[in-house]
Amino acid sequence: MSEQTFTSDVEVELLAIGAGPSNLGLAVALEELAPDLAENTLLIDRNPTIEWQQGMLMPWATSQVSFLKDLVTQRDPRSKFSFLNHLFETGRLDEFVNMSTFTPYRVEFAKYLRWVADSLTKVRIDLGRECVALLPRRDETGAVTGWVTTLADGTTITSRYLVYGGSREPNIPPVLAGVSPTRIVHSTSYRQRVAELSGELPYRVAVVGSSQSAAEMFRALRDDLPDSDVTWLMRSIGLSSDESSKFTNELYYPSFVDEFYQARPAAREQILREMYRTNYSVVTPPMLEHLYTDLYLDRFNDRNDRRLVTMVDITAARETDEEVVLELTDRRTGAVTELHRDVVFLGTGFDTRMPRLVRELAGNLELDRIDVSRQYRLELDSSSTAACYLQGVNEQTHGISDSLLSVLAQRAEEICRDIIAHRDGIPATAVSAKESAAL
Ligand SMILES: Cc1cc2nc3c(=O)[nH]c(=O)nc-3n(C[C@H](O)[C@H](O)[C@H](O)COP(=O)(O)OP(=O)(O)OC[C@H]3O[C@@H](n4cnc5c(N)ncnc54)[C@H](O)[C@@H]3O)c2cc1C
Repeated sequence: MSEQTFTSDVEVELLAIGAGPSNLGLAVALEELAPDLAENTLLIDRNPTIEWQQGMLMPWATSQVSFLKDLVTQRDPRSKFSFLNHLFETGRLDEFVNMSTFTPYRVEFAKYLRWVADSLTKVRIDLGRECVALLPRRDETGAVTGWVTTLADGTTITSRYLVYGGSREPNIPPVLAGVSPTRIVHSTSYRQRVAELSGELPYRVAVVGSSQSAAEMFRALRDDLPDSDVTWLMRSIGLSSDESSKFTNELYYPSFVDEFYQARPAAREQILREMYRTNYSVVTPPMLEHLYTDLYLDRFNDRNDRRLVTMVDITAARETDEEVVLELTDRRTGAVTELHRDVVFLGTGFDTRMPRLVRELAGNLELDRIDVSRQYRLELDSSSTAACYLQGVNEQTHGISDSLLSVLAQRAEEICRDIIAHRDGIPATAVSAKESAAL
């Protein structure tokens, strides 16, 4: 990894924010397809190390998609940056083959990401740098000519091209928004926050949601806070496995993005609605088996400190010095009860809106709406000579696979080629988001 920490303001041609899989995939595509641009690209991340969903990096958690959906294979199976080559180069290929699995442990995939970052020779990576504001840079006519990115320490990075890969933001249900952050733990910071609690104390905790993340936290709490009393709250009738099949899985193909993007608004809505339970508010079958077996043995052993409460809404929450009190309304009967907890763990997913940084940038650009082209380029006034791309936050226009690993190898190439065309002054030919929505 070409790592270099800067202490004063810098200018680069391309700045990529967030060194997760999306922008690491882009860094690889740049090195392979546009080496001169790669030489003038900076990738930053607020974390001090390269991780993959660090807050949920439990040692037993596995990827839910095939290792073939790595940063490159679906774009170029001969790339040296593949997961298989990583195994080969690090002497683990035989062991992985012998496991006969398509889904590596998440810690293995995180290690692969670090190996990719270390193997880059052109793109510079600077870690521990948090972006706090994005502003357009304009010339005297008002045309947008670039971007000014401000970091938490006040330094700025100016660039002609900007790629946001900072992911979506945690969803905190409004009813819990007033509870102090010390008592609320979203899954994205589970591991860091649970490590601050004493494993020997008998906490009273709640887990909220019926997602895979909620399930993984419920399972992990058995080891992390073994003497605690854990109540798992969900609105649904119970835990369900994902509703995917090989047929619906075809809608996760990179090639389906075109079809989705060009679909009429009502069709997009139908697809997202019907695909919802292939990815959201569902739990993998192996995890369901594991959880059910644990609870079965709890009942056998007369243990009652782990329980599921289904069909319940948190209708209010108040906090005292000692605890948070959740008001629960039973969806079946309307009966209201109180639950007194020390900590509440949220498996409530992600905010469906654009991230705050992007919304604020759009406000500064005086955009009425945030539209991105098929090539993920933010739609700007035609006088603009700069471009900004958004990765992983375009589910509404590019489909349910947008936030996953499924499409990111191809997406990296599409963005890379669009930047090259933009630099060369070649007009975009693909149908724009506005045009497509009007079809
Ligand atoms: C627990 C969990 C498990 C998952 N498992 C799978 C799976 O098995 N298969 C799958 O396909 N998808 C999975 N996903 C979906 C996940 O979104 C993708 O796998 C992938 O991580 C998306 O990559 P990304 O780079 O877009 O976002 P992220 O991986 O979220 O990376 C974003 C990066 O941006 C950084 N960042 C954010 N804001 C800033 C800022 N202001 N300044 C600087 N840096 C910033 C973050 O530190 C982070 O490193 C999972 C998601 C979760 C939450």
